Amino acid sequence: MKYTLITGASRGIGKAVALRLAKMGQPILINYRSNEAKALEVKQLVEAEGCQAELMPFDITDEAAVNKAMDDWESAHPDDYISILVNNAGIRHDNVMFMMSDDEWHSVLDTTLNGFFYLTRRVLKHMMPRHRGGRIVNMASLSGVKGLPGQANYSAAKAGLIGATKALAIEVAPRNVTVNAVAPGFVETDMTADLNEDELKKQIPMRRFAKPEEIAEVVAFLVSPGASYVTGDVINVNGGLYT
Ligand code: NAP
Repeated sequence: MKYTLITGASRGIGKAVALRLAKMGQPILINYRSNEAKALEVKQLVEAEGCQAELMPFDITDEAAVNKAMDDWESAHPDDYISILVNNAGIRHDNVMFMMSDDEWHSVLDTTLNGFFYLTRRVLKHMMPRHRGGRIVNMASLSGVKGLPGQANYSAAKAGLIGATKALAIEVAPRNVTVNAVAPGFVETDMTADLNEDELKKQIPMRRFAKPEEIAEVVAFLVSPGASYVTGDVINVNGGLYT
């Protein structure tokens, strides 16, 4: 049986992606780092859609934890494989560059780039053999396309993720694996709860932040049969803020 693995699926955009992809019927693996209560809520909501769900907690920045979680899952599922991977987990620690601490810099790059690398390298083993095919969607950001002040760390990480998306897409295209990125603008989640939405939305042509479901809809397209010839691309979902 084929499975879908979504990182950072306990909250925000990842939760919306889990609920949207649940409608496609393929069982969902819900990754998160620590918020088990929220992840359990998502599991119940996915199951209410008539779709199987499993919790798969691990820290994507911990290579050993990534490999152990995957080894354990493979032992429990000898006949199954992961055909859809959504690399969604991310963090932000904003600061102007001259005030930015080493930890603010490294933690953001570690999550977005090393986390993507450890897990994607491991999951590719499921997609590559026998030309099974697969879909990988990476959650980038407007910040990685345009650059945003106070986010040199986050912009660098997300721009790096876009570069990796394009390179990997070319590598694995002959194996029928597509790799794309989605670049949201401002989305109503915990990550943006500290921002001044009233002020920021004046700059957005659509005059509002996105709902997480509006990002999930684009992810659903990229993993659908209809997107079989789309690869190495970045889809902006930003209400016209930057095109
Ligand atoms: P969020 O509400 O803060 O949720 C973050 C999720 O990532 C949580 O499920 C969290 O798990 C998980 N996570 C964080 N670090 C992790 C780690 N090391 N290992 C495993 N899971 C980890 O964030 P969001 O707003 O939904 O953002 C989701 C993605 O979209 C991120 O990549 C973000 O950069 C990107 N994005 C967001 C916006 C926006 O405006 N919100 C805009 C553009 C791009 P726990 O619940 O266990 O902590």
